[in-house]
Amino acid sequence: MIIRSANFIKSSQSYDTCPESKLPEYAFIGRSNVGKSSLINMITGISTLAKVSGTPGKTQLINHFEINKSWHLVDLPGYGYAKLSKSKRQVFSEMITKYIMNRENLHCLFVLVDSRLKPQEIDSTFINWLGSNQVPFALIFTKADKLNSEALNHSIARYKKFLYETWEELPPMFTCSAVKRTGREDILNYIEGINASIQV
Ligand code: GDP
Repeated sequence: MIIRSANFIKSSQSYDTCPESKLPEYAFIGRSNVGKSSLINMITGISTLAKVSGTPGKTQLINHFEINKSWHLVDLPGYGYAKLSKSKRQVFSEMITKYIMNRENLHCLFVLVDSRLKPQEIDSTFINWLGSNQVPFALIFTKADKLNSEALNHSIARYKKFLYETWEELPPMFTCSAVKRTGREDILNYIEGINASIQV
């Protein structure tokens, strides 16, 4: 897919104020600092589209971008657990869960995980929650440039093994580096494929 245009549409403070749209939507989410903004900028080719952080605790917003006038790219806030509920169940913020559960044109949620880390509890809790709610998702291993190919393969194999403990089938997986600009085509082609299947 060639990116011809990428325009910022709106920052929303809640699901209810997200822009109305029938365009297919693809959202990106992960823990803060996982490399989400850098990935979005790399994918769109516009280095300033999403703000690369440095300052934790920035406002939680849902950012909508329109790509090629035909689909939406959505930058969701970095997740962490919301304050522990009375039952001590770990929950995600209402803004994120409402968006994911209700956005009818959301075709894939890309969950970003740092390729260097062993599976983190918060990511697996989130992924399992997606699974139990039948939300279509894919995994993106970020910052792949920080590992040599052997270490990267080892890390991804470890993740797959971990997922197989819970899942019968693995989700689509992508590996990328915003620094080396790798993984971009695979992700864009995946989106293009879904867009094409919707239009049939
Ligand atoms: P976000 O909080 O998930 O949006 O993460 P950012 O995109 O702001 O990145 C967090 C930090 O990781 C920044 O210092 C980035 O420069 C760095 N970073 C992001 N992507 C990569 C990558 O692919 N490779 C390397 N080496 N560093 C990255």
